[in-house]
Amino acid sequence: MEFEKERKHMVEYQLRARGIKDDRVLKAMESVQRHLFIDEDIWDRAYDDCALPIGEGQTISQPYMVAVMTELLELKGEETVLEIGTGSGYQGALLSLLASDIFSVERIKVLALRAAVTFKKLNIKNIHLVVGDGTLALSKEAVYDGIIVTAAAPRIPDTYINQLKVNGRLVIPVGNRFSQVLYQVKKTPSGFITNTSTPCVFVPLIGKYGWEKSET
Ligand code: SAH
Repeated sequence: MEFEKERKHMVEYQLRARGIKDDRVLKAMESVQRHLFIDEDIWDRAYDDCALPIGEGQTISQPYMVAVMTELLELKGEETVLEIGTGSGYQGALLSLLASDIFSVERIKVLALRAAVTFKKLNIKNIHLVVGDGTLALSKEAVYDGIIVTAAAPRIPDTYINQLKVNGRLVIPVGNRFSQVLYQVKKTPSGFITNTSTPCVFVPLIGKYGWEKSET
């Protein structure tokens, strides 16, 4: 199998060695072919320890960051998950193995179309792709077990908090334009618990909950 050795190496040295423990996450990352989500010209870097360009000024996140975020969603298999920022579709493909239904929103149409082609090629059927601004609620009534925002925000948006089921988890990078920290917000029956995880650098979330021109 093409790149199988590289994926095993990535899982051992970039993920397990750095503390990723969730076996389902590790297994999914060993099986999803990251190279199929990037341009063939850069396949030789597909399993490198870094983010890579996917066109339109956007990136596929570093594998370690994808693993940390996915682990923080604490998925068991039956969940409905909302992803903001489909990008290449790589994160979505992982989620499709780890939860039951995925709604993934991307504002850049060409990226969404490319991701749709990749999902079709891989016979992934449980991702519902939406082209649009993911800072606006998809549907006012919809609530999710997990919400993952793969673009950086200046603060935790209320929309997402309001769309969590009880015991649901929101994972989002929050900070300034140039550096952020991963946040996990859990909705419990008695209120919200916020935990911070690793420092990170994401492309900005554009839209209602992005940065104002005057902010950095
Ligand atoms: N999860 C992706 C990485 C995404 S990069 C992957 O696995 O490849 C972040 C993406 O968020 C970009 O594609 C960007 O266009 C998208 N984005 C930024 N703001 C958005 C918004 N308001 N709604 C939907 N998508 C948004």
